[in-house]
Amino acid sequence: MPGLAVASPSGKGAALSAAAPPDDLDVDVCILGAGILGLCTALVLLREDKHLKVALLDREVPCSGATGAGQGYLWLAHRDVGTPAYKLAVRSRQMWAELLAPTVPELSTQAVEWQASGSMLLATSEAEGAALRQRRDRLAAAGVEGAQVLSAAEVHQLEPSLATGAVHSGLLVPSDSQVSGKATAAALLRACEAHGPRFTALFHEAASQLVTGPTGRVEGVVTEARWVRAAHGVVVTLGAWSGIFLAQQLSDARWEGAFKPRRGLLLEMPRPDGMPAVRHGLMEMGYTAHYAHSSSSGQPTADGGLDITFTTTTSAASTLLVGSSREFCGFGREGEDAVVDAIMQRAAHFVPGLAAVQRQDISVRSGPRPWAAAGTPWVGPVPGMEGLFLSAGHEGSGLTLAPASAALLLQYLLGEPAHLEGDVVDHLAVPSTMAPILAE
Ligand SMILES: Cc1cc2nc3c(=O)[nH]c(=O)nc-3n(C[C@H](O)[C@H](O)[C@H](O)COP(=O)(O)OP(=O)(O)OC[C@H]3O[C@@H](n4cnc5c(N)ncnc54)[C@H](O)[C@@H]3O)c2cc1C
Repeated sequence: MPGLAVASPSGKGAALSAAAPPDDLDVDVCILGAGILGLCTALVLLREDKHLKVALLDREVPCSGATGAGQGYLWLAHRDVGTPAYKLAVRSRQMWAELLAPTVPELSTQAVEWQASGSMLLATSEAEGAALRQRRDRLAAAGVEGAQVLSAAEVHQLEPSLATGAVHSGLLVPSDSQVSGKATAAALLRACEAHGPRFTALFHEAASQLVTGPTGRVEGVVTEARWVRAAHGVVVTLGAWSGIFLAQQLSDARWEGAFKPRRGLLLEMPRPDGMPAVRHGLMEMGYTAHYAHSSSSGQPTADGGLDITFTTTTSAASTLLVGSSREFCGFGREGEDAVVDAIMQRAAHFVPGLAAVQRQDISVRSGPRPWAAAGTPWVGPVPGMEGLFLSAGHEGSGLTLAPASAALLLQYLLGEPAHLEGDVVDHLAVPSTMAPILAE
């Protein structure tokens, strides 16, 4: 690797001490991390430019992070109309529809287990009911069709598994849908592979070192097995690991505080005998507080310990998916049994039939939601590091927001318009979100 150096924020680089890995690979874009953001970015790039070569690298396999745990709600109902996250979700929704066009067998609605089940937000008090009505009005004004507020009796008629008395009213948004995170990741990978030799998947290979050229530009990445040269750039989609990686690579500890793992558990179980089926995606209204904490961005702040809010839906395989928890406890899996109990207790308050589920029948999905200190996902060029791009920090919305985030990277990498308003682009840009954190 003559003339190459380990990346440094000054752009000058340090001597690359490791011996050159045995294998070289030349691509146009190298994406680090094969969660939903990395997979979606790879596919959007491959589709947009028919000559582009893309490598997707993961130290494990797709779905090793948050993506495999995701409930898969592609919703607008719980977002705050007009915020950048809402606009990103609207654009993503259009793009999901385009990506799931029936002409692409690898990525059909069936392959991603897409369900047009609609969403139902559940208010538990008069105050929450008033908030639901306001939400309905704002969604309707923003053009979301069919959003309607239901009385407790109407909710119960549509969802007889819910306890009478637990719900004050509901907001039904029929156009909201859901997918399976795992199935979507698998389908995206197959769709990437369908592009033949232009796509290279490198799994069980950790990105260990960014490499800069003589001008300080990031020119690729070194793994244990090879040196991947990336002519257009390297994209970091490492989810909750993004901050640790950038802190190490750029020798700047402030990046570590920029992203944190916010552990989330989702429980899968058979529906108990006699319990009515759950027909919509359900979510208690309290969940929206995760978005309200940060006024304009749509992402929560880092305060608080274990937080449980009730969600449930029926999977394509007819099992129940019951959630969910949020806690800042690192990347480990300690203490999950107590969290499972807390989720089930909250869920049984809304759906009494769930009290009959035996612990041994519950399978636990756990994943680190990539929480961002800036209160918003970060999508754009990394400041001071030409050739390095970032798309991370999507917290509880990565499955929803992945396509529009990928389109935005496309805009930066290839100059193709992302069809996002300028304020959204600016809001998500890494230089603007990083500025206050770097100033600390
Ligand atoms: C319980 C739960 C429910 C959720 N429900 C929803 C929902 O209903 N709707 C929604 O939109 N979102 C939901 N989410 C959020 C969504 O799952 C995440 O926002 C999304 O999966 C983040 O994807 P990502 O690609 O950024 O990160 P990840 O999926 O975490 O991917 C990061 C990848 O980077 C890899 N990696 C790490 N370090 C390295 C390295 N050095 N080299 C190479 N690879 C590395 C990891 O192995 C991993 O595969 C939920 C999340 C949880 C936990």
